[in-house]
Amino acid sequence: MALSDIRVLVIEDNPINMELAVALLEPQATEILQASSAREGIELAVAHVPDVIIMDIRMPEMDGITALALLRERDETRSIPVIAVTAHAMKEEEAEIREAGFDGYVPKPVHQDVFYAALNQALGGNPETK
Ligand code: MN
Repeated sequence: MALSDIRVLVIEDNPINMELAVALLEPQATEILQASSAREGIELAVAHVPDVIIMDIRMPEMDGITALALLRERDETRSIPVIAVTAHAMKEEEAEIREAGFDGYVPKPVHQDVFYAALNQALGGNPETK
């Protein structure tokens, strides 16, 4: 799948971080769905089945790890690749994120190259190619 044909769902509670993610995705994606909470994100994922999900970890009400578990429980969403995005993860938290079964991990502040590499890898591309 070409990186330019992707339909992406971004789940992020912080408007500035959402804006950044959308700006990075705009040249790459044909459709960008936006959710400001995990619950809304799960609803959009079920309704639209995007090619990939960018998921903030720290969100009020429901965190990204819980949301991932719920996505994996549902037939419609279980195989959608999900990339975690989180601020300065402590070692323990980073291990927890990896064990949760995310398809990629991008630490904040988000660097463009890391972001695109994670996206490419999650979509089955070669992580070495940009
Ligand atoms: Mn957050």
